[in-house]
Amino acid sequence: MKIICIGRNYTQHARELGNPLPSEPVFFFKPDTSLLLRNRPFYLPAFSSDIHYETELVIKICKAGKAIHEKFAGSYFDQIGIGIDFTARDIQNRSKAQGLPWASAKGFDHSAPLGRFLPVTSFHDIHQISFHLKLNGQVVQQGNSRDMIFPFEQIISYLSHFITLKTGDLIFTGTPSGVGPVKIGDRLEAFVEDEKLLAFSVK
Ligand code: ZN
Repeated sequence: MKIICIGRNYTQHARELGNPLPSEPVFFFKPDTSLLLRNRPFYLPAFSSDIHYETELVIKICKAGKAIHEKFAGSYFDQIGIGIDFTARDIQNRSKAQGLPWASAKGFDHSAPLGRFLPVTSFHDIHQISFHLKLNGQVVQQGNSRDMIFPFEQIISYLSHFITLKTGDLIFTGTPSGVGPVKIGDRLEAFVEDEKLLAFSVK
């Protein structure tokens, strides 16, 4: 199982970090050890003093495929959920400045809290899924899949031209604007439509 994450997939988020809009999807990986499941607490790591939440819709791949045409990409995922792409922003900014990869800023242990999934069939229209994050009870991020620069099908098609997708692979599809830091004692709750699928504390 692999975790692929899409960067800069919402215009306002790309702007808030001062990044140009991509002409094709930007992607990176998290290792399987980054997963944090069953609403377990997230322990702030000692190596960073600026861990940011990024709330993202996550799709789960349901069959293997390579070089998938966009037209058929919709049949390659059957579940949609929500996760946090925790990012050590201080390390990422240092890496970016030196033109180095983001692996340590994005792939550290438990940097991918992941909630429950809903079947694709339960959505009226997967291109209009709203989602949001509450931090200590306040909504801090709100997104909708209609605002993605690259929708699910384009992401799958693009990725699969480089990398074979396999059953169980997870794709984090990018964060809307409103990212920010977490601190010890924070409570994060992530919703798809009005359903709470992920809730955990920062310790
Ligand atoms: Zn992200």
